[in-house]
Amino acid sequence: MTDLRDAGQATETQSVPTETTGWGFETTAVQTGIARGLGETVGIPIHQAAAFQFETLEQAQEEFQSNQGLSYARLQNPTVRALEERITALERGAATVALASGQAATFTALLSVCRAGDHVVSTGSLFGGSAGLLNNILPLMGVTATITENTPQAIEAAMRDNTRLVWAETIGNPAGDVPDLEACAATAHARGALLGIDNTWGGVGYLCRPLEYGADIVTHSLTKWAGGHGSVMGGSVTVGNRHSLTRNPIYTDGGESSVLNVRGEGALAWRQRWFGAHQLGMTLAPHNAFLLAQGLETLALRLGRESETALALATWLERHPRVGRVSYPGLPGSAHHTLARRYLRGGFGAVLTFEVEDPAAFLARLGVVRIAPNLGDSRTLVVHPWTTTHGKMPEPARRAAGVTPHTIRMSVGLEDVEDLRADIGGALG
Ligand SMILES: *Cc1c(COP(=O)(O)O)cnc(C)c1O
Repeated sequence: MTDLRDAGQATETQSVPTETTGWGFETTAVQTGIARGLGETVGIPIHQAAAFQFETLEQAQEEFQSNQGLSYARLQNPTVRALEERITALERGAATVALASGQAATFTALLSVCRAGDHVVSTGSLFGGSAGLLNNILPLMGVTATITENTPQAIEAAMRDNTRLVWAETIGNPAGDVPDLEACAATAHARGALLGIDNTWGGVGYLCRPLEYGADIVTHSLTKWAGGHGSVMGGSVTVGNRHSLTRNPIYTDGGESSVLNVRGEGALAWRQRWFGAHQLGMTLAPHNAFLLAQGLETLALRLGRESETALALATWLERHPRVGRVSYPGLPGSAHHTLARRYLRGGFGAVLTFEVEDPAAFLARLGVVRIAPNLGDSRTLVVHPWTTTHGKMPEPARRAAGVTPHTIRMSVGLEDVEDLRADIGGALG
């Protein structure tokens, strides 16, 4: 981002500044989105404003036609835009819209390619809220979803002529399954559908950049590792620049005046911003955008350390006599280890699950680890998914998502690993 005048003339589809595309993750995370120059802030400033000025009637008229610059903060705000540029660069995408929550991002991604009569295929081990959108909200709009196993064969078998999107998570919640991204992309593209990946657990490109493996849309709950301190909600939708919309009637209907004809390459990004922000108003607040952008600056350090600690705990718990099945993609014995090694770098993530005989007693005895339904916090948090995060799902779907009555899900934080081991060991009895 340079100054407000430049921002005002920016095109709808932001493009990643060329100097950032060659940078490594850590450099991009701290440098992108900040202006250079005399008196410029070192860091992203907060533009705490709902509206932006024009000097002439003509400027206002032009802006209301193009919606490409600054007018009203539901549509665009410079602090939010700086965060969007940073996420776009970290994911090596073409454009990002930042929104008020991960749920808002998932909903926007789904809406951007589906309308009544369309169909979505999704893998089963999903964040509970995403399953809710597919099972409860999409049907209200005449869109159906098939939730299937996380294998390329099962996804292929579930595809229909009206399938517009294949949906999966980089690391399934909480089973720890990793989709074969390249195979999923090939399957989706062969049918004219897009591949959308919820990359929340992939840490905004730190562990995985799904766009590099053929995904077309990447979403995040920024509430998790991006914010990183359990203090702020946010979400984002990023699009790549290799997607084809030529077989989706939403984009092709209308001949000369079709969305694709009018909007060109930026059509998908345009529709996401238009739906998520302009029309539905799921807009991210500038102060939250600032906190999230600041969180991204230490994401690599945090998620790197948390992944190390998670691997150490998973390895230890696997041998613990009072622990049942341990699920973590970093364990060599994990069914998902081969795909995890192929698609993840810099670690296997901060989340593990394990089974204990008596979850209530285990949770009650913890002293350092806290019981709370969040991920990516700087503190280690646990939940009992069977009764909480996945409690509303039908039992077979819960089991398919890797959840049993004995499962504990742990999001590892930044504490000393020995303190965590002592706390968990004590609670196991
Ligand atoms: C938390 C989460 C979401 C939803 O994000 P919110 O910010 O809570 O709305 C979506 N996907 C995954 C994988 C999540 O962990």
